[in-house]
Amino acid sequence: MTKQTLSFQAEVAQLLHLVTHSLYSNKEIFLRELISNASDACDKLRYEAINDSGLYEDAPNLEVRVSFDPAAKTLTISDNGIGMSAQEAIDHLGTIAKSGTKDFVSKLSGDQKADSQLIGQFGVGFYSGFIVADKITVESRRAGMKASEGVRWISGGAGDFEVETIERPARGTSVILHLRDDAMDYASAWKLKSIINKYSDHISLPILMEKEEWKDGELINPSDEKGGRQPGGMLKTGEWETVNKGNAIWARAKKDITPEQYTEFYKQISHDFEAPLAYTHNRVEGSTEYTQLLYLPSKAPMDLFNREKSAGVKLYVKRVFIMDDAEALLPTYLRFVKGVVDSADLPLNVSRELLQESRDVKAIREGCTKRVLGMLEDLAKHDKLPAPSADGGTDTTAGVSDVLSEEDKANEGKYSKFYAEFGAVLKEGLGEDYANKDRLAKLLRFASSTTDTVSVSFADYKARMKEGQEAIYYITADTPAAAKNSPQLEVFKKKGIEVLLMTDRVDEWALNYLQDFDGTPLQSVAKGAVDLGKLQDEAEKKAAEEAAETFKPLLAKLKEALKDKAEDVRVTTRLVDSPACLVVQDHGMSTQLARMLKQAGQAAPDVKPVLEVNAEHPLVKKLDGSVHFNDLAHILFDQALLAEGGMPADPAAYVKRVNALLV
Ligand code: ADP
Repeated sequence: MTKQTLSFQAEVAQLLHLVTHSLYSNKEIFLRELISNASDACDKLRYEAINDSGLYEDAPNLEVRVSFDPAAKTLTISDNGIGMSAQEAIDHLGTIAKSGTKDFVSKLSGDQKADSQLIGQFGVGFYSGFIVADKITVESRRAGMKASEGVRWISGGAGDFEVETIERPARGTSVILHLRDDAMDYASAWKLKSIINKYSDHISLPILMEKEEWKDGELINPSDEKGGRQPGGMLKTGEWETVNKGNAIWARAKKDITPEQYTEFYKQISHDFEAPLAYTHNRVEGSTEYTQLLYLPSKAPMDLFNREKSAGVKLYVKRVFIMDDAEALLPTYLRFVKGVVDSADLPLNVSRELLQESRDVKAIREGCTKRVLGMLEDLAKHDKLPAPSADGGTDTTAGVSDVLSEEDKANEGKYSKFYAEFGAVLKEGLGEDYANKDRLAKLLRFASSTTDTVSVSFADYKARMKEGQEAIYYITADTPAAAKNSPQLEVFKKKGIEVLLMTDRVDEWALNYLQDFDGTPLQSVAKGAVDLGKLQDEAEKKAAEEAAETFKPLLAKLKEALKDKAEDVRVTTRLVDSPACLVVQDHGMSTQLARMLKQAGQAAPDVKPVLEVNAEHPLVKKLDGSVHFNDLAHILFDQALLAEGGMPADPAAYVKRVNALLV
């Protein structure tokens, strides 16, 4: 391939602009990102070589080399990992494959501080090189390809990049940063070592740098005339030394690891700029042996709601990296958890398919799930919010040493933070993880008709239930405002009964899987007839029965007028101020859920709701005998739909009818 100039994907160009303009305060992370890529490339080679040892060629020792040349103003990070073909260089360095990229770029505001936060969550990886470089040259050859099939990629980080084929005997990748003038302090062994020490110490393969010695201007390495002479008389010796400790943090004893080291490791594996909210680190012994180091991030990623999104846990087998995103290690609803699982039992050549079936993996998955739930229960317990009941915290994983006790004190207030970010995803677990349903239910929090913050647990609710109340009442709606002001709540407000407000998209689906909490049934206020049971006095019951009787002829007429729209029409006691509302049959799908599914382009049954009318309302009283009966009937129905956030099937017809009456 001769030299050609190609354009970056539009999002990359935008991202690059922001990287160079927003990340000033945290420049040094570029080294962590590039060393992490180099280390990933070596891990990939090791993994592919399990089935094809020829890929090692004549260099079986995987390593990363960091070198610099002050005279040429370059800093080079080289690895002898998997490398890239020309096409891979074009694809991987010119586009961003990550889902949610468009969305992410559109959220960037130009405000440096806010943007650098977002970029931090997104992870800029390779492009972070442009924080310190005004030009980057990448030279690479993929393992197993010919020396003549090397590639050189060059870009100034603006709109485009150049690629050409080159001769490159060495397998792997060299990323050559042409340092900006204000980044020349990175051309210093001391500085580089201190950054490596801070961010990349745990990288399990050796990171090498050339040894330097004081030699008062005398040249030790005459062959390297240009690079050999260092400012201040430091000279390169031509010998390379390992500068990282290289022991995997998760394999060390907890007592030897500082909180800062845990945090740095998290940042390294997650590409997150922010510290994690919590972590749990355990060595599990028993029939299946493994080590887990699992983190809860502080912030949700852009693509949190994409269930196809890659999982966040890396799998190692006896410290050898096997794969990223091992989705079999945790259920999908815990996809926000980041970390490492290192198994002592799995074979090195384990494949994704094998993982799905392995009994060891099943045990690991159960153990990890329990740990994460335990961590959440701990956070909940130490939050100002009321905790899930005490037995929620017991862990039954055999042989696991106790965790978090030292951290307990520091957890104050964290659960509400966690819940605001990840609560909606946690709810998916009700449907996905039957075994842990009860533990999950205790971890849920809601807003309610009497509490604005999302802080009410089922247990809190139960503790506040009215004398004679037999169900936990809830309402699902598209927005908190729609929920709070729904006509369906009127009678509950009047009687001072709290109703949980559920406004996450997942709520209704998830609640299908939770019929009761701790023996108390959950009841949607918008489904079925209201049965307030013992909360209603005899007089009220009698009045309702009488109304139903006297309204019979009117109801029949309404039913006939609305036969295309309403399943049934009946008199209700749930309304106080509103003339009508819509409800669905006891086990039917709510109108909100049907609406949401349709908006998402999915098949949803046509929900024909029941129209309930308030016999006490003047509008309803006036209906009978009105010359506008038919129009009023339709208006009543459409208004009930509007009040719950829906849209009349024929909005123009609705407006016409209302206007006719107004005139
Ligand atoms: P990420 O690492 O999050 O995928 P990057 O922007 O850092 O994103 O890198 C993009 C891709 O470029 C990587 O996924 C990888 O395929 C490729 N890449 C980057 N650095 C190297 C390297 N040193 N060796 C081989 N491939 C690399």
